Amino acid sequence: MVGIKRNILAMQRNELEHFLETLGEQKFRAGQIIDWVYKKRVFDFTAMSNLPQRLIRRLLADACIRVPVVLKRQSARHTTKYLFALEDGDTVESVLMQYHYGHAVCVSTQVGCGMGCLFCASAVGGKKRDLLAWEIIAQVLLIQKDLDVQRQRVSHVTIMGTGEPLDNYDAVVCAIRLFGEYLGIGQRRITVSTCGLVPKIERLQSEQLAVTLSISLHATDNALRDRLMPINRRYPVEQVVAAGRQYGKVTGRRVSYEYIMLKDLNDRPEHARKLAALLSGSLCHVNLIAWNVIPGRPFAPSDRAAIERFSAVLSKMGIPVTIRREMGGEIQAACGQLRRGQAEVETE
Ligand code: SF4
Repeated sequence: MVGIKRNILAMQRNELEHFLETLGEQKFRAGQIIDWVYKKRVFDFTAMSNLPQRLIRRLLADACIRVPVVLKRQSARHTTKYLFALEDGDTVESVLMQYHYGHAVCVSTQVGCGMGCLFCASAVGGKKRDLLAWEIIAQVLLIQKDLDVQRQRVSHVTIMGTGEPLDNYDAVVCAIRLFGEYLGIGQRRITVSTCGLVPKIERLQSEQLAVTLSISLHATDNALRDRLMPINRRYPVEQVVAAGRQYGKVTGRRVSYEYIMLKDLNDRPEHARKLAALLSGSLCHVNLIAWNVIPGRPFAPSDRAAIERFSAVLSKMGIPVTIRREMGGEIQAACGQLRRGQAEVETE
C-alpha cells in the first residue's frame, strides 16, 4: 500500500520525534530537520547535509515539506502584501511592513472571519475555518525566505490579519511559542489583537506570555459599537476595557487600543474625551487608524485634521497616542481585502 507522505511542517517537534522513531531514527534528528526548515529555510531533504543518506532516503519516501504557495506579492512603498494558497486550496494573506525599527509581518489566523465587523473586508463571507499553528508560522517563514535575499530579518509579528486570533486560541498560543523556538522572534516582539473576546483575554493573561495585547475598540458607546462590531452585544465596551485594564495589571504589558477613525461617527472631540475617561489610569496606548475604504460600506474615513484634533485631546488628557502611519491602503492592506479581491477575480 502506498502511504500518504507526512508533511514535516505540519508536525510539532514531539510528533516529528515520534515519526523519526517510527523510521528507526533517533529523536535528535528532529532538531536538525527543524533547523534546516525554519532557520536555514531549506525545504529539500537532499540538501540537509548533516542527515545520513539512509534517513534522507526514508524521508523522501515517507515525508515531504509542503509550504503554502505564494499566489501574489503586491508592493507599495514600505509594504508588501502576500496572498498564500494553503494545502486545501484556501487562501490567506499576510503583510510585510518595513518600519524604522525593523520588519514586521502581520499574519492571518483564520480563513475569513466570523466576527462580522462592519468596517472590515474579512467579515464578508464569514469564517471558513481556523488555521493550524503551522499555517500561521508558515506565513512568516516564507516571508523571511524572501527577506533572506536582502539579508534582512523579520523582527516583529503582529497577529492581526484576517480572523479573530482569540477565536482560534490554542493554535495562536502554540504559534506564539513556536515563533520564538523556531524563528527566534521573542514574545515581546509579538502583538495579538482581539475584537474583545473577554473570557479569552482573561485566559491569555494567565498564560505567562510576554506578548502585547491589542484591543480593537473603535467606539466608546455601546450603541455605535454594537453596530460596528456585533461582538459588542456579547461583551460591551465597559467589560472589554475592564479586561484590558486587568491584562495590563497582571502582565505589566501596555495594552494597545486600536481606533479606526470614521468621519462624523466616532471622530469628534467629545468621543476622544470619552475614550480618555474610559482608559484613564490604565496601562494603555491608543492607535488612531485611518480607515481603508471598502466600497459599499456606509462610512467615510475621517480627514487628517479630525484625526489630529482627536489625538491632541487624548494627549492633553494623559493618554499615550499615535496616529498610525498609513500603509498599504493602495494595495488593499486592510485585513481581508487582498483575499477578497482574489475571490472576486476567481468568481468573475
Ligand atoms: S476586524 Fe478583525 S475581528 Fe472584526 S471581522 Fe475583521 S478580522 Fe474579524
